[in-house]
Amino acid sequence: MTGDIELHGWCATFCQEAVSGEMPDNGADPDDHGHWCRSMSVSGDGITPSGTHFILFAEAMREYVHGVLPASQIDLHNRLRRVVGITLDSNSEPSVLLTPGEAREFAAGLVYLANVVSNIDAPAQRVIR
Ligand SMILES: [Zn+2]
Repeated sequence: MTGDIELHGWCATFCQEAVSGEMPDNGADPDDHGHWCRSMSVSGDGITPSGTHFILFAEAMREYVHGVLPASQIDLHNRLRRVVGITLDSNSEPSVLLTPGEAREFAAGLVYLANVVSNIDAPAQRVIR
């Protein structure tokens, strides 16, 4: 189709597949490499409202393409070059992808809310003299 482009797949510098040596840092078959370059993950342990243990994962991610990218996917591919992925299972596809700015804003919001529920954002007690 007109406008399709051929891309040679290069892994992101943080790609654990390439860093570990399990994959070459370029030219890997997407069927072997997967659809994403993924960093090491950070996790957040929590519980569901019913009390079941639950873990969220966040990773630096970049869409990995080695082959023909349809013209209709180019804009989305460019948006997926630098994202933080939130997954509900460490081996699954991401549920949400955040730009670096969105990820920083979310992280700052989480810290603020943690301070609120810990009540450490309250004003200092007055000293009565
Ligand atoms: Zn990779």
